Amino acid sequence: LLDALADQAALAIERVQLVADVDNARLAEEAGRLRSALLTSISHDLKTPLAAIMGAAGTLRDYQAALPEEDRVELLTTVTDESERLNRFIANLLDMTRIESGAMEPNAAFHYLGDIVGSALRRARKIMIHHHVDVRVPSDLPMVKVDPVLFEQVLFNLLDNAAKYAPEGSTVNLQAERDEARILVRICDEGPGIPANDLERVFDTFYRVRKGDHVRAGTGLGLSICRGFIEAMGGTIAAENRTDRTGAVFTINLPLLPNSPNLKDMTALKD
Ligand code: ADP
Repeated sequence: LLDALADQAALAIERVQLVADVDNARLAEEAGRLRSALLTSISHDLKTPLAAIMGAAGTLRDYQAALPEEDRVELLTTVTDESERLNRFIANLLDMTRIESGAMEPNAAFHYLGDIVGSALRRARKIMIHHHVDVRVPSDLPMVKVDPVLFEQVLFNLLDNAAKYAPEGSTVNLQAERDEARILVRICDEGPGIPANDLERVFDTFYRVRKGDHVRAGTGLGLSICRGFIEAMGGTIAAENRTDRTGAVFTINLPLLPNSPNLKDMTALKD
């Protein structure tokens, strides 16, 4: 009996190894495909703005004397806007590498969410001039332990997406609330929403729902950075669609520490 069992065990192990080998081969193949897709995507994202900058700068160099003032300003604006886009893309890539190599060390301390929301909004003001932003952060919300720089970046990326994908004139809501031992921060918009099959995939590196969407310039990095940052701070982030109308909802879930002070305690401490 023991021999029979041993034989069966050996067979089972062999089978598991076989499956593992097939899985490894498939994974290696997938990794290879992914790598070349990433390279194509990165070179596209670097080349497009660079081509625009080179075109605009070249035209300025060769024809500046003949060009009316407003054309010169437009060309210079192309140079600055596209440089800004390149800059953002490279900053995103660096953030991504830091997350993936595990070098991301959040510098967490207790902060009042309203302050971080305020600075994210100030930074997003320029890109949100055509949207209404409705912010609700209760003043008695307990403080959260986060890295303010990373958290502001997450809020900024989410606001940037809302501005990019939701139509001009629509409203973007940002609200924070306490839910037992958690703080929930929700950003919701009135855009097209996200197809049900893509709700999880939008957080993947370089994933974009509408691949050919060159009108709304994007890199597919914003949300994976959001997830990386939030998870590094011990929270979670998820996407869903609105149920009352079309629109996307992003919910950040931060654990509330038992000793979280609230703003009133902090002011009392200062006094
Ligand atoms: P991108 O640079 O493409 O915006 P993200 O990682 O920020 O990259 O988002 C990934 C994809 O998720 C986007 O390309 C878009 O298809 C979808 N997406 C993100 N935010 C929204 C939103 N607020 N409404 C609709 N679709 C969105």
